[in-house]
Amino acid sequence: MEREILPVDVLFVGAGPANLAAAYRLGKRLKDEGREAEILVIEKAQTVGDHILSGAVMDPRGMIELFGDDWADSCPVDATVTDESVFFLTEASAFRFPFIPPTLKNHSNVIVSMSKVVAWMKEKAEEQGVMICEGMPGAEVLYDGERVIGVRTADRGLGKDGSEGAGFEPGTDIHANVTVFGEGSRGSLTETLINRFSLQGENPQVYGTGIKEVWDVPAGRIKAGEIWHTAGWPLNNNHYGGSWIYGVSDTRVSIGLVSALDSGDASFDPYFAMQSWKTHPKIASLLESGTLVKSGAKTIPEGGHWARPRPCGDGFLIVGDSGGFLNIARLKGIHLALKSGMLAADVIGDAIAGDDTSSAALSFFDRLVAGSWIHDELWKARNYRAAFQSGFWMGGILSNIMQFTGGRLLRNRIPMESDAESMQKDRWQAAPLSVDGKLTFDKVTGVYNAGAIHEENQPSHLLIADLDLCRGKCAEEYGNPCQNFCPAEVYEMVSNGDDSSNLHLNPSNCVHCKTCDILDPYGAITWTVPSDAGGPKYMGL
Ligand code: SF4
Repeated sequence: MEREILPVDVLFVGAGPANLAAAYRLGKRLKDEGREAEILVIEKAQTVGDHILSGAVMDPRGMIELFGDDWADSCPVDATVTDESVFFLTEASAFRFPFIPPTLKNHSNVIVSMSKVVAWMKEKAEEQGVMICEGMPGAEVLYDGERVIGVRTADRGLGKDGSEGAGFEPGTDIHANVTVFGEGSRGSLTETLINRFSLQGENPQVYGTGIKEVWDVPAGRIKAGEIWHTAGWPLNNNHYGGSWIYGVSDTRVSIGLVSALDSGDASFDPYFAMQSWKTHPKIASLLESGTLVKSGAKTIPEGGHWARPRPCGDGFLIVGDSGGFLNIARLKGIHLALKSGMLAADVIGDAIAGDDTSSAALSFFDRLVAGSWIHDELWKARNYRAAFQSGFWMGGILSNIMQFTGGRLLRNRIPMESDAESMQKDRWQAAPLSVDGKLTFDKVTGVYNAGAIHEENQPSHLLIADLDLCRGKCAEEYGNPCQNFCPAEVYEMVSNGDDSSNLHLNPSNCVHCKTCDILDPYGAITWTVPSDAGGPKYMGL
């Protein structure tokens, strides 16, 4: 097959905050130095921002460093945090913490919709001469021997069975001197690099799945800039996680529940846990008579310092969530993503200036990260998440000791199990769930509110290695947990009318959260990019 080859100097895969920070900074530097270089960002969503979801309370440190003190004059910021509370929930009560734990202090941080922020960053990057191609999913890493030389974009116009339809267009081979992977959490191409080059850190990466909703509520319930965090119900002692409520304006709230994927419970359903959480009197009274505006789901890499993959290799760098640059102790990753992008730009800028993009030149990225405030922040919290594999209360005690000693006690690495390894056999029991359509909603409504849509006539972007495993061993050992952990009802076991059932897929529902790729206990599910650039539409979420 003849494929178009597009040569560029630097290719960024994914238009999230890390890659846009890198592209902007690199473009500005080259412009200031009067150098010519082709910088291309490709993004799988049709519009930059549509696949971006975050709470989000942002530490502005990264933005100030990247754009200067007046960054917020033009960047869309909803509110500055003025009031904060932390609650512990039991099923019927809410106990306010008498103090704010140091890692959860957010005074003067800002509440943003990251989908809108990256749309703004796209314009800033374009002003520096960066080319940005939307609706162009990177489907495959290209190699010359063991050097990464770019990415092949997805073929278009394939039928369900993979055959070439009337509108078939082969993907383009984009060749680059340096390719930067900033695909977000559990990046599909990043995973292939981590596996091929054994880049994973000493601990496996572990994740949480966040379900977010934006509601319009009557005035007087919350103020713009007021934030609440909760721990406890509906998660039990074995389950790390918690919720947020952020006052976006006096009549709009961003709410969500993040639940870890290493609870071991095969019947756990992150989407319905969030629906249950909304029925707590504290939350229900906030949302009563309100209107659900939008919703979505995303995974979060929680493992921290020990779980970060080596972020560079021959021809490539890894930034942002894809590189595990997130501090779950602070519930924050955007500032770290921005900084990782800035450091990547510095390394690439030097490599271009020295006409040396060799593996040795790019490996300087690792050293820059190690000497930066990214490392300082993640090092202090290096065992924070691992402590919670001993349960919520023990984790709380250990993490407080770590916080108060700046990580000096419990210095050594606490090993962790991966999420899929944590899943317990023969211990599943799906609980009956009901929704009322006013406060709580089913998954199909969630898909609708995420705006998720894919072309039906295309090959499934969810690859299942062995369907016999689904109807046999997985059904017996785990009760087909994909039906529970997927927040978009993509996986259904459909009865054959006898004792047997078969897996039926609804790939068009997929909201690209990646939970299935992470949590499938047999590693039989692989998430790949859909060829039609479909997916959710999170703009404004
Ligand atoms: Fe998330 Fe996988 Fe379900 Fe898509 S199919 S919504 S990636 S769990």
